[in-house]
Amino acid sequence: MSYGLNIRERVDLKDLNTMAIAVNAQQFVDIENADQLVEALDLAADRQLETLVLGGGSNLVFAGDFEGLVLHMALRGRRWEQVEGETAVLALAAGENWHDAVLYAARSGYRGIENLALIPGTAGAAPVQNIGAYGVELCDTLVSVTALDCDSRKTVTLTAEDCQFAYRDSFFKRNPGRYIILEIRLRLSRSTSLKLGYRDLQDYLSDVDTAKLSPLEVAEAVMAVRRRKLPDPDTLPNTGSFFKNPVIDQARFEQLQKRFPDVVHYPLTDGVKLAAAWLIDQAGWKGYRNARVGIHNRQALVLINHSQGTGEDVLTLAEDVRRSVREKFGVELEVEPGIIGTR
Ligand SMILES: Cc1cc2nc3c(=O)[nH]c(=O)nc-3n(C[C@H](O)[C@H](O)[C@H](O)COP(=O)(O)OP(=O)(O)OC[C@H]3O[C@@H](n4cnc5c(N)ncnc54)[C@H](O)[C@@H]3O)c2cc1C
Repeated sequence: MSYGLNIRERVDLKDLNTMAIAVNAQQFVDIENADQLVEALDLAADRQLETLVLGGGSNLVFAGDFEGLVLHMALRGRRWEQVEGETAVLALAAGENWHDAVLYAARSGYRGIENLALIPGTAGAAPVQNIGAYGVELCDTLVSVTALDCDSRKTVTLTAEDCQFAYRDSFFKRNPGRYIILEIRLRLSRSTSLKLGYRDLQDYLSDVDTAKLSPLEVAEAVMAVRRRKLPDPDTLPNTGSFFKNPVIDQARFEQLQKRFPDVVHYPLTDGVKLAAAWLIDQAGWKGYRNARVGIHNRQALVLINHSQGTGEDVLTLAEDVRRSVREKFGVELEVEPGIIGTR
């Protein structure tokens, strides 16, 4: 049976990735339901085409044209389930805009994801890197994920445990191509305590009676704090944090601290997390700019496409940053967004 796939050829992806890199997809299809997804995967297998699942394009960098079939996740829909007392489950189709969903939940009086306001992208991509901000991670509320198992072509339900969440990581990230997420389900509550402990948020709310705050007011505070620090991709194309915060063991940290007493760090149970932004700043990169790409002048973790930069420009700059941080501190930075295609 055909579900009416509208496959387009040589589609420009510039407006479909927040780094605004002008590349083409050899073939491109909007996926509106699970049947279309199965048909598109079968078609790609028949034609021996590589596939790329694309949400909002806010966590990937195109190194070059994508010579395959882009599956653009356009599944829509949200609904409340299991509304019991103070809690309810919010189900979101994979193509729903994440930030809109945060505001929708907060306006409905439910708490749990308000700190994740203004993170670009889709609901379906949120579990892939277990999005997190201001002391909250997706895994704090995620109950289950409905996904297509690309091996069996069957729809499966995965629990939070199955997703194997970690810091900016999950089973999906470690096993790309195994599952495609169709829907996510989050347990929210009207009475759980708001998480306001993160430093920037605390400072912003210092004059406010936090006991009276609604989840919508917290989302608005998070948006204000984020807008002060992070560039809007619509005006300065970027992919948010380009590098993860590196984690090193205690012994290495102590050596590093001897050389750099003011190194910004966060103790963990099994090591020490370093602030990648601090390392990059100290290596002299904050505000750097060449003809096409650069580093944001208020947040050293963010690489910017200033003017028609290519994937090659972005990745060359990222390599230069990594090299200088390695030479100065002996610390390896790991790139956060996925790199698509070859250079
Ligand atoms: C300005 C800015 C700020 C950001 N701030 C944060 C932040 O605070 N915290 C944070 O964690 N992240 C942040 N990010 C990163 C990004 O927004 C998130 O990773 C987001 O979840 C990506 O969603 P997307 O739909 O754009 O995914 P895409 O970039 O389209 O895809 C990302 C990866 O997920 C895969 N994927 C997408 N949809 C699915 C699906 N349905 N099933 C299976 N795989 C899928 C893709 O193949 C790709 O590998 C920021 C990005 C920007 C540009």
